Amino acid sequence: MSALRLDVVSLVPEALAPLLGLGVIGRAFASGIAELHLHNPRDYALDRYRKVDDEPYGGGAGMVLKPEPVYAAVEAIPVLPRRRVLLMSPQGQPLQQADLRRWATDYDQLVLLCGHYEGFDERIRALADEEVSIGDFVLTGGELPAATIINGVVRLRPGTVGSEACLEEESHSTLLLEHPHYTRPASFRGLEVPAVLRSGDHGAIARWRLQQQRDRTAARRPDLFARWQQQPQQHPDQS
Ligand code: SAM
Repeated sequence: MSALRLDVVSLVPEALAPLLGLGVIGRAFASGIAELHLHNPRDYALDRYRKVDDEPYGGGAGMVLKPEPVYAAVEAIPVLPRRRVLLMSPQGQPLQQADLRRWATDYDQLVLLCGHYEGFDERIRALADEEVSIGDFVLTGGELPAATIINGVVRLRPGTVGSEACLEEESHSTLLLEHPHYTRPASFRGLEVPAVLRSGDHGAIARWRLQQQRDRTAARRPDLFARWQQQPQQHPDQS
């Protein structure tokens, strides 16, 4: 699989740079699984003040990101055949694990557009294939949402995470949340590791884990649990 090319268009691209040095994701960049390219619309501003924002037509609070420098920045980016342009926006579709999986699998290039100020000129929306929100709250810019997406996508590319099985069993890869994990010591401040996990009985362990998944999903995410109950065959360990 070729490297995943990530292009981030941002007024503060240096906010993304730490990704390159961070643990598992940093190693994925260092080993060529993904490559990060940063683009600042300010470098494409036409006037001598390199102005990238302006007042909103019709009045109102805050400044608006101008379309010309963003279009120029995007148009300067090389285009790979399998490319997706994602616009960070609290008005976008809520980010799901399935989106990260789709982008990691179906594309060789993701272009992430970060808004700023009160928002972006509406015509910038036309550059994007999808608008993505990381939750029902508002941040000052799209850099943390873009970093979130990059982290989530790069960890799904082959070779980033040691064991592919980890990715299949974790929360949100199916509708059930993951079961609890324990490691040594067996007893810690009076809190014991469940005996079944130390029994060596793999069938009993699989059944216990599935029951834990069901119980925690029902308690914490009844919305997911209801959907899972409608698809009872989907978990391989289901008994
Ligand atoms: N006034 C805008 C609105 O109500 O939709 C919010 C603008 S916000 C202050 C500035 C930029 O941060 C947005 O254009 C977007 O790129 C980014 N942003 C903020 N919250 C976000 C979220 N929850 N998900 C994705 N991007 C977000």
